[in-house]
Amino acid sequence: EPNNSEEVLNEYDEEALMGSEPVVVANPDACRECRGAECEKACPLSAITRDELGRPSIDKSKCAHDGYCISACEFGALADKSQFVPLIRLLRQHSHKVYASVAPAFAGQLGPAVTAGKLRSALLKLGFAEMVETALYADLITIKEAFEYDEHVKDAHDFLITSCCCPIWIKLIENKFPDLLGHISPSVSPMIASGRVIKELEPDAKVVFIGPCVAKKSEAQLPDLKGAIDFVLTFQELQTLLAAAAINPAAEPDEENPLASWGGRLYARTGGVSEAVGTTLEKLIPRRAEKFKPVKVDGIPDCTKLLEEIRAGRLEANFIEGMACKGGCVGGPGRIIPAEQGTG
Ligand code: SF4
Repeated sequence: EPNNSEEVLNEYDEEALMGSEPVVVANPDACRECRGAECEKACPLSAITRDELGRPSIDKSKCAHDGYCISACEFGALADKSQFVPLIRLLRQHSHKVYASVAPAFAGQLGPAVTAGKLRSALLKLGFAEMVETALYADLITIKEAFEYDEHVKDAHDFLITSCCCPIWIKLIENKFPDLLGHISPSVSPMIASGRVIKELEPDAKVVFIGPCVAKKSEAQLPDLKGAIDFVLTFQELQTLLAAAAINPAAEPDEENPLASWGGRLYARTGGVSEAVGTTLEKLIPRRAEKFKPVKVDGIPDCTKLLEEIRAGRLEANFIEGMACKGGCVGGPGRIIPAEQGTG
């Protein structure tokens, strides 16, 4: 009943769900047999500490909100703050047009039959005004990074580090390789670009990013990026929301595909940014394409090794792409299917 649901919704404090509190939170009371061993092992940034009983807590100064600890704990002792409740409230209020910006890694997540058109129909049924593919905004950022490469990389010692996708890759550089910060592209991620463009065209709109990534929840709250994206849902959360509303996206009509290009959808996998920027250089600035030497890497240990190589001056490449998850975003902790099945 709507009234009962409203009461339940009112029990939650929106600020506590959305505010400046960390996105990944620990519930030590839920900790069971392994007593923190699995989550501690899973954290690539050594942000899990354990109390005298072995129960986990989070060192906020190190945590990058990647969500790997959440996936590692089968007892729910670590969780990310779901934004379900304020989002459901917003969708029910009909006070704003609510856009869904869906990450390129969506392909196959809700079943092999769920095309972009079917997903769009399901989201409209949930109460969204429209769905866009974040891949479309990835295209804009690709063009921008191609021109940044042209401007920034002038001789054999110059290189550009892409900032396109992964907030954990950027956090790793900020925390451990601050001397390389000057080489990072100033471009925002396609997620942030999608929110900014939509709100430029419709200032009253709200934008919800839906993807495989837990870290995007904290990226959306960064002081210089805040306001572009109002809510972030993982694919797992979207699946729960659709099930709760008894919507089967596979059975929805496949009427209209949101616009997106081949290049933007490549962003779902490691190497996609390099490939898209390389292709763009060939088309727009061909004189630079032949000297474009990309290198791609994924997983935090390999990202760290590559950054150490760069620092030691042993790098041959001049365009550096790093993704925290193995395989890229198709391997993100909020995905539904195994990384190898994600088609991006
Ligand atoms: Fe998020 Fe992983 Fe993709 Fe990085 S690689 S943006 S952490 S899903």
